[in-house]
Amino acid sequence: MELFEKAKPILEKLIKNGFEAYFVGGCVRDKIIQRNVGDIDIATSALPEEVMSIFPKTVPTGLQHGTVLVIHNGEQYEITTFRTESTYHDNRRPSEVTFVKSIEEDLKRRDFTMNAIAMTPNNDIIDPFNGANDINDGLIRCVGDAKERFQEDALRMLRGIRFVSQLDFRLNDETYNAIHSNKELIEKIAIERISVEIEKMLLGKSPKKAIDLLIKTKLLNHLPSFQYCTTQFLELLDLPIQSLKDVEEFWALILYKCNFENPEKILRSWKMSNGRIKQILNIYDLLIETKIEWSNTKLYQVGLTDAIKYERLQLVLDHLNANELDEKILKSLYNKLPIYSKSDLSFTGNDLLEWSQIKGGPWLKEVISEIEYLIVENQLENNQLAVKEWFGNWLQK
Ligand code: ATP
Ligand code: MG
Repeated sequence: MELFEKAKPILEKLIKNGFEAYFVGGCVRDKIIQRNVGDIDIATSALPEEVMSIFPKTVPTGLQHGTVLVIHNGEQYEITTFRTESTYHDNRRPSEVTFVKSIEEDLKRRDFTMNAIAMTPNNDIIDPFNGANDINDGLIRCVGDAKERFQEDALRMLRGIRFVSQLDFRLNDETYNAIHSNKELIEKIAIERISVEIEKMLLGKSPKKAIDLLIKTKLLNHLPSFQYCTTQFLELLDLPIQSLKDVEEFWALILYKCNFENPEKILRSWKMSNGRIKQILNIYDLLIETKIEWSNTKLYQVGLTDAIKYERLQLVLDHLNANELDEKILKSLYNKLPIYSKSDLSFTGNDLLEWSQIKGGPWLKEVISEIEYLIVENQLENNQLAVKEWFGNWLQK
């Protein structure tokens, strides 16, 4: 069933209890664009405690912002009480909110006209800022005075550019100019929030449009790590980066292009998880090697996933579309590998000790690596008999 249909009983229940309730924000925008709707957001005149008393299963996830999570038929819905954000400090999202009486007042606090549209369960639209028109024109326009809105919450500048990439829209002139004149305020925003927007930007339909805007508005010069990277980002615009698939590929390419002295430090400063840092650095390390030829050993060490990412990036660096990569060649080479890890070996270190009757030492590790190499390269069969024979000869030498 369509997401909206599934959520309608929630709105109807609120209305039956004497409150107003609307679909709002991204879901209404995406429905008008006919784009896949990610999550359903609901705005209501009911106070959080009233929402919690109406629905049997709720989680008070953001009470200070007026948000309650309602669980209905196994799905989660964010229900937020009509509110404004009255006090802004330091150009950041406010710490307190004030509840308001009408949906119109609630829509006023939202960032862009396309995100400030409400819809009733009967699909009637409430659109005080003509957001639907702007959607039609592919325009991103602030609700109210753009400069003021970016001064209230500087993250909105990046959200705007992120939507340019995701929706393939344009900023209207006022919005563009307001970003240009308030760019340095982005420095007040927590890196975690910046990072979410940058990644959505990179993975959107038109990452080049977004990067171009970051450069032209000079917002780029105020983003962490990228103060001095304008030339390098300009070079990215010459490459078919829109054909890249995941955020690790993008990050590896950015690190490679920007040629940072300490790439790991950069990723740490972006507060990424250790797992992600490792993934990105693995690909980055491949990129800075001289062009890789895939021997059995190299593919065994690197693994199929990273090998494919590397080859996709090589194509992009050669100005070719990453989707052109014929993964079959690498996959078939990989599928023919005799083993995939040490645990696939037919023998253990203890076997070698037993066969040799010599005391363990550094030699053991070395000889295991040598046998592993021979097996991966199909120069020795992975069975105990063959290994024992080879090992006997090795001992004699
Ligand atoms: P997405 O498709 O990425 O979820 P979205 O527009 O739904 O995009 P959310 O972060 O889910 O973005 O926010 C939901 C709604 O809340 C927005 O559509 C907008 O109306 C409002 N909103 C979110 N962040 C801000 C902000 N920083 N300033 C003003 N309004 C905001
Ligand atoms: Mg959303």
